[in-house]
Amino acid sequence: MSFHKIKGHQNQLKYLSRLKESGLIPHALLFTGQQGIGKRLIADIFAASVFCKEKDSPCGKCHSCVQMKAGSYPDFLVLERDDKGKIPVGASDKSQQGSVRWMIDRLTRSSINGRYVVIVDGVETISESGQNALLKTVEEPGSDSHIILIAESKSGILPTIVSRCIEINFNPLSVSDINDIVEERFPDGENSSMISSICGGSADVALRLYDDKIFAGIIAAAKEIKGILRGRGTAGKAFDFSGTAGPAFVITVLINLYSFMVRSHITGEVVMYPDDIALDEGEAEKAVKILLAIKKGLKNNLNVNSILKGMLYSVSEINSRGFPDPDFSWLL
Ligand SMILES: [Zn+2]
Repeated sequence: MSFHKIKGHQNQLKYLSRLKESGLIPHALLFTGQQGIGKRLIADIFAASVFCKEKDSPCGKCHSCVQMKAGSYPDFLVLERDDKGKIPVGASDKSQQGSVRWMIDRLTRSSINGRYVVIVDGVETISESGQNALLKTVEEPGSDSHIILIAESKSGILPTIVSRCIEINFNPLSVSDINDIVEERFPDGENSSMISSICGGSADVALRLYDDKIFAGIIAAAKEIKGILRGRGTAGKAFDFSGTAGPAFVITVLINLYSFMVRSHITGEVVMYPDDIALDEGEAEKAVKILLAIKKGLKNNLNVNSILKGMLYSVSEINSRGFPDPDFSWLL
């Protein structure tokens, strides 16, 4: 895999190639941008190109490229989120592989082939004390070594770390880049125009939507939302997130879906949605607002199901009459 095969991000790739060719690669790079748009893939390829000595690097064939592909290159260190969703800081004995302290300790020892490259994928998940421990390493990772921090945004990173990095921001992919990526993987994929439009510029989300079960879950939720907003209700049927990728994923995709609907009402862009999920502009706008509020609540472990229903019902009632009907049932 080389930079040539990557879709989108052409300016960022050009910049990285130029850094590589000039031999002036900064000690610390910070890749920012939303999830699932290729930051990690690009970091992996960049690391391989730093180690590869061939002219058009990474060549994919030399000894270091083969080791990189196999995940066994000795001077390539990766820190990733654990099953709690955080990069561990590690105990003070520095033994926990993949932890911040382990990595800092490794960099104090000589590398096998002359330089380390470290990828920290999810730096914003490291605790404040862990980030403080990381600070000095980011400043001086050791001669010829490079550290690539990856984050969705700078907001969870200590400003002192950010200020020591060269930041490269990655934008969401365009619909046509996403089309190219998914067509390569799913040449006969159904619903491709809709999926490319609602994945929010994330190839990762688009590819997951090609899972029939996940796609069906999104459509079912969207039908339910339309039913409630149009006052038809759905007889107490719950939103079913079980067959899908979880509430956070479904809510995010629905926000993209309705945002796209609002936009296509304005721009006249034609995207084929099943009729039973299409909303008019005002409804789609309200749905986006409700879902954004719920997305924020997800962090506090709110019950998505009942809150989503409650909010949709209240919106649909206020819609039709200005106020909800007074409820005297408690008098009887
Ligand atoms: Zn190579």
